[in-house]
Amino acid sequence: MSKSDKIIVVGAGLSGPLIAAMMRKRGYEVSLYESRPDMRKVEMAAGRSINLALSDRGLIPLDEIGVKEEVMATTVPMYGRMIHDNEGNTRLSRYSGREGEAINSVSRAGLNIQLINKAESLGVNVFYNEKCVGVDHKKGIVNFKSYTTGIESDVHADLIIGADGFGSAVRESMYDNHRETRFSFSQDYLSHGYKELHIPPGDDGSFRIDKNALHIWPRGGHMVIALPNEDGSFTVTLFHSFDGDEGFDNLNDDKSIMAFFKKYYSDILQHMPDVLTDFNENPTGNLATVKCYPWQSNGRSILIGDSAHAVVPFYGQGMNCSFEDCSVFTKIHDEHPGNWKWILETYQQTRKKDADAIGDLAVENYVEMRDSVAHPDFKEKRELEMKLEATYPDYKSKYSMVTFSPEIPYSMAMNLGRAQDEFLLNFCSKIDDVSGVDIASLKESLDVLKKQFV
Ligand SMILES: Cc1cc2nc3c(=O)[nH]c(=O)nc-3n(C[C@H](O)[C@H](O)[C@H](O)COP(=O)(O)OP(=O)(O)OC[C@H]3O[C@@H](n4cnc5c(N)ncnc54)[C@H](O)[C@@H]3O)c2cc1C
Repeated sequence: MSKSDKIIVVGAGLSGPLIAAMMRKRGYEVSLYESRPDMRKVEMAAGRSINLALSDRGLIPLDEIGVKEEVMATTVPMYGRMIHDNEGNTRLSRYSGREGEAINSVSRAGLNIQLINKAESLGVNVFYNEKCVGVDHKKGIVNFKSYTTGIESDVHADLIIGADGFGSAVRESMYDNHRETRFSFSQDYLSHGYKELHIPPGDDGSFRIDKNALHIWPRGGHMVIALPNEDGSFTVTLFHSFDGDEGFDNLNDDKSIMAFFKKYYSDILQHMPDVLTDFNENPTGNLATVKCYPWQSNGRSILIGDSAHAVVPFYGQGMNCSFEDCSVFTKIHDEHPGNWKWILETYQQTRKKDADAIGDLAVENYVEMRDSVAHPDFKEKRELEMKLEATYPDYKSKYSMVTFSPEIPYSMAMNLGRAQDEFLLNFCSKIDDVSGVDIASLKESLDVLKKQFV
């Protein structure tokens, strides 16, 4: 191991500055390269998830680099899903039966800036307007093209970390060599995309709808969600099919857009005076799951975050998973600091199954959010889960395992959570009312089930 080893991190989005800061804290010389301009100096374009749900897995590495308190001070806690039905009625479905468990709505740009500031303060060199256009994984050379000068330059590193997101150039350069490395890659687009809209604050700066919830308007084939921002506004996202008579592709004039919202979301319209402007000006985003393997090349380069495993946003875990990548990577690093070949191999073997699991869970959760939450058996299941969690703190629903239990790997949360879901849904299909259920005996049955997984 040599602390003079040079590390290049490509991408200063959410996970790039975090892993850069964590490796800098371990004594390495770290440089962070970003293709966009410095976001602290330019206005950001709208339309790519203005806020995000930050939860327990993501908070651990933020704590390690000393920004957790600062970040949490800017968040709005959300204790459950506020479900808005077709008739305009609302119902809060809590995320957990345990007191105080919440997910946190945080500004993407604000969080990104806090992470970059922290990385810089620890001594990470940050370069903007530098686009990675190629990587020689054998020699450890990254080729950057400057958007400022147009000049290309080669930079050498002992370790290259590709944190350049969904469209990763580092991953692409691994693919270029796929016959030699047997690099496998898949990119599965959903037939649904998303559009960002917003609810402004009330006249007095107040929140127009309940502040401490993630709001959902489930409508079967599509849904709207809204996450609160500190300033009293909400970032609203419509998830909807591209195809069909009322699909995104056919909502192409003011009349059809307004008719769609009046038909399915009339109760939100009163809160969205700018719906047409937002709809027409904001891009319609694609949603896809990316899987690939191996994540490392030549013991020299490694993919983390979305570059290795982009997931659809329906579990609110893409960023949290990417942050957890950084915790897992540094923990493995600390066992044999600087032994890159071993670290990269161990990291990818440890982490792949968990990234796959959250990718699959996220796709499944879309159906749950837009459809199942309104189903009677699902409502009963959630009620029982809340009772179980409130009575037995060691009981954890699938949602709690994924969101509030970093000690449980995603793959375990998926396998045990699916079995619990199947058991409880089957149980609920046979009862009319959850109030008379013997919770103690239900818990005993669930404990027997759990033994198969631990
Ligand atoms: C609509 C939506 C909602 C979401 N909601 C949530 C949520 O609630 N909770 C959650 O946990 N996750 C959420 N996510 C997922 C989350 O946004 C991603 O998982 C997270 O941003 C991944 O971080 P990253 O650092 O890997 O990639 P990014 O944050 O995308 O950063 C990649 C960076 O690399 C830069 N870059 C790209 N190419 C190059 C290049 N060639 N050279 C140099 N730099 C380059 C980019 O400019 C960017 O700054 C959501 C995603 C979407 C689309």
